[in-house]
Amino acid sequence: MQKELKQLVSISRYYGGDPDYVIAGGGNTSYKDDRFIWVKASGVAMANITEDGFVQLYRDKLKIVGRKKYSGDVHKREEEVKEDLMAARVYPEKGKRPSVETSLHDLIEYPFVVHTHPTLVNVLMCAQQAKEKTKELFGEKALFGDHGAGYSLFIKMKDALKEYRIKHGMDPQLIFLRNHGIFVSGMSTEEIRQQYEKVMGTLKELVNVEKEEELPLPEKMPLILNKIRKLSRGKKVLYRHNTLHRFFYGSPESFGGIAKPFTPDIVVYCGSSYIYIGEEDIDAILKSLEKEFEDYRRKYKKEPKVILIKGYGLIGLGDTESSARIVLDVFEDFMKISKYTDVFGGPHPLSEDDIDFLDHWEVEQYRRKIGKAL
Ligand SMILES: [Zn+2]
Repeated sequence: MQKELKQLVSISRYYGGDPDYVIAGGGNTSYKDDRFIWVKASGVAMANITEDGFVQLYRDKLKIVGRKKYSGDVHKREEEVKEDLMAARVYPEKGKRPSVETSLHDLIEYPFVVHTHPTLVNVLMCAQQAKEKTKELFGEKALFGDHGAGYSLFIKMKDALKEYRIKHGMDPQLIFLRNHGIFVSGMSTEEIRQQYEKVMGTLKELVNVEKEEELPLPEKMPLILNKIRKLSRGKKVLYRHNTLHRFFYGSPESFGGIAKPFTPDIVVYCGSSYIYIGEEDIDAILKSLEKEFEDYRRKYKKEPKVILIKGYGLIGLGDTESSARIVLDVFEDFMKISKYTDVFGGPHPLSEDDIDFLDHWEVEQYRRKIGKAL
């Protein structure tokens, strides 16, 4: 294996194995030379990736995506772009699909790119003052990009990078993306680690993350879990109870801080709407659960994945135990992000249009399907 690919595997595992940076299949990494780019395959988790988890592509073939006119229909367009990405693979017979952010990786001229969704970065990226504060904390050389994913993000960043290059005569090592995460780039993986340390160090000074404590299992919890198992039609049901949940479950107002998703990951793994039960009497809770399941199915035509119950805690539902665990991990990360956005002016959820797009995005559906097999 080429030395650089070993370094790529190693840095991908380093950040992928740390839940402060990446949860489940989120994030992606790449290495490029003049002719080829190796980018993480869609749906592969960074935590235990090997060289096989990367897709090698011809860079000249990838350039088509930046030149071509695609369909005006966003979902059709993503499909067409996906076909062009697939056609740029060096070994199509391996059946791997390159990350949806491949074209953005290719656009950045540095050899190494490590894109993650760190909790602390997203506290800033999902807050009202994301743009101003990014400039204030990380200076003119950090590029701030508006929210987007896949092709729409690529097009926005293509223009933004053009402008940046005129102004600075180089590419940015730090690209911050609203309601999404960060791209860190460098000549070496060492340079990337240094950049990450700088960013995280700055944010740690401002955001004082409290340690959350486990809370006991309430006496009536088995009744509630039984009820949810029955209502969920055979889903795996996992339960946790800690002080982070308590921070949000006290009232409909406090639940409001997590009622709308902040990032694409949250929509992909947890859906875009969550059940909140504010009743205290056990019979009222059980009755309310029945009604909420019914309403949810009627309104969204899909199954709920997240339930938060006052005094009880957080419940995650999935087809398998590991997918239910991912639901809980991603949702708790969302709760952490929301809890601290006050530092930067309060929460800034995704827009309705963004949520709608993500809910229907076929590429994300695919990731969700792969995620189940993790
Ligand atoms: Zn991302």
